[in-house]
Amino acid sequence: MSGQINATCDIAIVGGGLAGGLAALVLRQQRPNWDVRLIEPMAIGGNHIWSFFDGDISDAGRALVQPLTDYRWDSYDVRFPAYQRHIDMAYNSMSGESLSAAVLAALGDDGLVAQGARELSAQAVVLEDDSRLTARHVVDARGFGPLDRLDCGWQKFVGQALTIEGGHGMTAPTVMDVTVAQVDGYRFVYCLPFDDETVFVEDTYYSDDAGLDVMAVSARIADYASAKGWSVREIARTETGVLPVVMAGDFDALWPEADDVARIGVRGGMFHATTGYSLPFAVAEALALPDMIERADNGGPSLGVQMRARAKAHWGRQAYYRLLSTMLFRAAQPDQRYVIFQRFYRLSPQLVARFYAGASTIRDRLRILIGKPPVPIGRAISTIKDFRWI
Ligand SMILES: Cc1cc2nc3c(=O)[nH]c(=O)nc-3n(C[C@H](O)[C@H](O)[C@H](O)COP(=O)(O)OP(=O)(O)OC[C@H]3O[C@@H](n4cnc5c(N)ncnc54)[C@H](O)[C@@H]3O)c2cc1C
Repeated sequence: MSGQINATCDIAIVGGGLAGGLAALVLRQQRPNWDVRLIEPMAIGGNHIWSFFDGDISDAGRALVQPLTDYRWDSYDVRFPAYQRHIDMAYNSMSGESLSAAVLAALGDDGLVAQGARELSAQAVVLEDDSRLTARHVVDARGFGPLDRLDCGWQKFVGQALTIEGGHGMTAPTVMDVTVAQVDGYRFVYCLPFDDETVFVEDTYYSDDAGLDVMAVSARIADYASAKGWSVREIARTETGVLPVVMAGDFDALWPEADDVARIGVRGGMFHATTGYSLPFAVAEALALPDMIERADNGGPSLGVQMRARAKAHWGRQAYYRLLSTMLFRAAQPDQRYVIFQRFYRLSPQLVARFYAGASTIRDRLRILIGKPPVPIGRAISTIKDFRWI
């Protein structure tokens, strides 16, 4: 839909990425009578392969994303210089295209506003063509905002789906292959076998700077394929990403209290401070949204106040992961950062799963740090002001 002049609706979601797309789907499924509009100038879902472990999401979350899941494996591998490990935890991948198809089918043409938003308030959006969409609630899902108030390292990557002549021979994903040269910080290669001939290869760096040299990293992917003995017939898709790995930061600076527009997704800080990943939180938030809207409609706190409280609580729970990020970036030499993950992946698969889900128990937190830490903990703790165990 375009060119809507002074239209009105129930819910206007600004940004049709992961969080906005899932929120639109849940609202259509659970409150079909509400008029939901999704404002997105680009392709819904964007150019992404989002992956997640079974342990990252609840049963309700699984029911939501299962129809969107393109690939699923029962287990995965990690490979470090010191050892290899096969872990029995299912891993899943979902593409932006699958999210897009589901969202478009659920919303219909009238539900999509195919242009950008210029201004947002809690009850109105001004679009690029100067038309105005008023809504009972506006939800800001525009992805990462300015990150300059956060103290960050970066997880950056180039991912390519390679078609391999005669097949690649992999049966399970390799979530981290760290047997590669350690360049530009902690480097690992991530491989997802989509089918017998297609493997998605992502070359990833935990780096001090956000610059991504796509050509140089693509050349390293070609070298990796060649070292595997793979003959690449085609590069079927390429994606890039630069995600913050947060060491410290003030939530109130990220989302000032005076800003009363509800936010979801990474816009509201709903991501994992060490991995930059957001899918587990986007799924949970989308599922919580209909009830939060009704609470606001029935005289409770506004949607913005509720969503901000939820995001602030998440930010508080992420303090431990900010400590881990700090250890990685400040206490370990760049070419030795891999030692932290090499030690971590020797721990129990359940602990590893809870780490990715952002749900580490106190015992997990101690277990990760205590024993024979590969870097000095005191040095890491002293660099962050907001550390607490829980
Ligand atoms: C290539 C890539 C791969 C990733 N893989 C994973 C993964 O495997 N697992 C995981 O958990 N996380 C992953 N992440 C991290 C994170 O989950 C994603 O960044 C995720 O897409 C964030 O979701 P979001 O909806 O908050 O923001 P986005 O998905 O970035 O969506 C924001 C949307 O807002 C739109 N927008 C921006 N400005 C406006 C405007 N003014 N008006 C209207 N619309 C606007 C954008 O076009 C975009 O579509 C990945 C990130 C990248 C970049």
